[in-house]
Amino acid sequence: MGCDFSAIANIDPADPDQANALLQQCTAALTDPSLWWWALVFTVVCAAVGALIGKYKNAIVRDAVLGAVLGPIGWIISLCTPVAKPKPACPACKRVVDAGDAHCRHCGAKLGNVGNGNSIASRSSP
Ligand SMILES: [Zn+2]
Repeated sequence: MGCDFSAIANIDPADPDQANALLQQCTAALTDPSLWWWALVFTVVCAAVGALIGKYKNAIVRDAVLGAVLGPIGWIISLCTPVAKPKPACPACKRVVDAGDAHCRHCGAKLGNVGNGNSIASRSSP
């Protein structure tokens, strides 16, 4: 008697020992270390594929987490999301700032009215 749906369907409800034996078999199958190694390897592979997708979507960490958590469904979500825009850099200190900030949070330089990442360099230079 294996641990599958047919074993559950064919179990004798009047025999508690049979049900107990099936429960022990299923518990042993779930605590088998090889199952957990396969799950670990599968998760790492899915995260790596997600990170590869994220490399082209400019969001490596986001897509690696999506791949690790959701597997191939996370890959599809990653492929369907638009390419993430890189955050703009402060022209004075070259550190990353949020688009729309009036002043750099690192050095205090005036950033001007920055709408997106593409306009910061052109608007900051006279
Ligand atoms: Zn700065």
